[in-house]
Amino acid sequence: MERRKFLKNSSLSAAGLVSASTLVACKTEPKPEAVPAAMVPTTPNPIKPIVVCTWNFFNASEKAWKVLKEGGNALDAVEQGVMVEEGDETNETVGKGGRPDRDGNVTLDACIMDKDGNCGAVVCMENIVHPVSVARKVMEETPHIILAGKGAEKFAYEQGFKKEDLFTESTKKQYEEWLKTSKYETTINIENHDTIGMLAIDENGDIAGACTTSGMAYKVAGRVGDSPIIGAGLFIDNEVGGATATGVGEEVIRTVGSFLIVELMRQGKSPQEACEEGVKRIMKKNEGRKDFQIGFLAINKNGETGGYCVHPGFTYREYSDNGHKNREVISFYE
Ligand code: ASP
Repeated sequence: MERRKFLKNSSLSAAGLVSASTLVACKTEPKPEAVPAAMVPTTPNPIKPIVVCTWNFFNASEKAWKVLKEGGNALDAVEQGVMVEEGDETNETVGKGGRPDRDGNVTLDACIMDKDGNCGAVVCMENIVHPVSVARKVMEETPHIILAGKGAEKFAYEQGFKKEDLFTESTKKQYEEWLKTSKYETTINIENHDTIGMLAIDENGDIAGACTTSGMAYKVAGRVGDSPIIGAGLFIDNEVGGATATGVGEEVIRTVGSFLIVELMRQGKSPQEACEEGVKRIMKKNEGRKDFQIGFLAINKNGETGGYCVHPGFTYREYSDNGHKNREVISFYE
């Protein structure tokens, strides 16, 4: 009642003070401020299709490349690409055969993001070999973005995914060995963590990405890293490009790493420069610390790629008509 009276009074007094034309102008909807255009310089011949992924995951990139070359879209390419690693029992950092947490549970994290900014993720999910495909179902079949733990698993069964023991003989043995000392170390490079993050551009020039992992081996039960967190382990902006990360997820989350890199590219940095800046931001918060690895990988709308890491050893795989390469990445420390 009071508020209405106030509005009535103020409009009356305003009418007495301002001209009719000003009043008309006030009634129109406020215009949203213009968003500055992405400063990615466009090249006449962008490289497409193209796919890149963290580390030297040959089979996964080969699969994604095949999808792209057969005219498939970037979203299908990244999903089917990373699924190869999820299904590979000898890869002990992704999908089936991933190492467990310290209580002996194999929990998986994954996310996926498309050209329209749609995304889906599952975190801390057990007993399902292909978390990336469950993440895609979350994106496409629910109004949500992230499903966790038992809820994610239940949703997966409802969507027709099969229950499967994710332990292998090898990871069981290693876990039993680990229990003898129960020492938790974030070993640099591939020994303890080794996520696959994949970015692709299809024939239409559209970008998509996916990221999947079993996370840090022998993590505290319930721990979730950066990999399934949109903006941290993966981010796509179809106007600009995409980025993904591997390494100690806690540090990537603290700087919202992949989003940061895409935003830096939006402001005009090359993928290489953006990845370097991303790692440097992390190192600024960790001055003198040498006990962890981070690797960033980025691609822009032109199909230019770049990567940077804390310690030597991180590589990324790149497939395009210009060739199939495993690219060495320069690092913050020599
Ligand atoms: N980023 C992953 C995590 O923190 C681990 C990795 O990349 O190896 O869970």
